Amino acid sequence: MKFNSLRPMAALLCLVLAASAAAPASAQAVKKLQTVVIDPGHGGKDPGAVGKSCREKDIVLSVALKLGQLIADSLPEVRTVFTRNTDVFIPLDRRAEIANGCNADLFISIHANWIRNPAIKGAETFVLGLHRSKENLAVAQKENSVIVLEDDYNNKYEGFDPTSPESYIIFELMQNIYLDQSINMASLVQSGLTSGDGRPDRGVKQAGFLVLRKTAMPSILVELGFVSNAAEEAYMKSDEGQNEMAAQLFASFRTYKSQFDARNIISMSAPAAAADTVPAVEEGIRFRIQFASSATPLPDDSEVLARFTDVSCIEEGGRFKYMTGSFDSYDAVAARLKEARKAVSDCFIVAFDNGKKISVREARKKLND
Ligand SMILES: [Zn+2]
Repeated sequence: MKFNSLRPMAALLCLVLAASAAAPASAQAVKKLQTVVIDPGHGGKDPGAVGKSCREKDIVLSVALKLGQLIADSLPEVRTVFTRNTDVFIPLDRRAEIANGCNADLFISIHANWIRNPAIKGAETFVLGLHRSKENLAVAQKENSVIVLEDDYNNKYEGFDPTSPESYIIFELMQNIYLDQSINMASLVQSGLTSGDGRPDRGVKQAGFLVLRKTAMPSILVELGFVSNAAEEAYMKSDEGQNEMAAQLFASFRTYKSQFDARNIISMSAPAAAADTVPAVEEGIRFRIQFASSATPLPDDSEVLARFTDVSCIEEGGRFKYMTGSFDSYDAVAARLKEARKAVSDCFIVAFDNGKKISVREARKKLND
């Protein structure tokens, strides 16, 4: 009796959910890049890298604000959220919370570098992952070390010791489903920052940055240059230098946005019931290829769905993720990916363990164990 009395309420709840999911149906919605979070590193009691005559926190704030202004002027449809727009101290995990809280499509953390050798200069851009060199580890160690200025950092970061190389092993197993898009943005930033006259391109790299660890969107950390190099310090603290770097970052962002918008042109006119395509939970490790992500379910007759067979969908982080295929070996999914990219050029591999999403790296490691 008690059980039965609950049932009408459950049914009603389903109707309410269905109605709210169908609400945007009348408007032809197109998922475009809507929100970018710009994260000027450091601030307040944390100066960041200190050069002979300038501090990282001031350079990166100035470049960040100029970048935000360029976006506001030229792409007014984009919402820009700053993790800070004044000289204040913001904990690293709070920066990721801000990005996740506003459902950002892209996270750009802006920094400047310091190194003992004053001859070294140039820009480099990082995505989250395990470092492949001591040099990359050193950059992450330096940037992560600011957590010791936060209250209760030991608890908040689960005992993570920014100075200990062993702590960085967590980044080997870290899920990074946005790696491809992050690398794409990082590559655009590198070609932008080195498009002027002769600043060396130090490349796109991977390392374990705490500020990127919990962001649920494509995320990069750019090191604009070295305050330890006299010429770069002078460039980065000058108004011309900052204007140029902001313009270069803006050009990279605009390119990324146009690519993003092009691949998400999807008709939302008649949302289908996503439940129809939820994959059955399969045992063990499975690989799939994700080819679309949408804030609302795609209609059955959507053009992008027609490009694939064997389509499944999961709802994750408030978005509907569409995948094709299901493979129990990485080699098999990698072979299929080549074909799939002819239909959607930036589709990528995702992995599941007994139906739970895990990183591709973790899945491959489990298969090899
Ligand atoms: Zn920094």
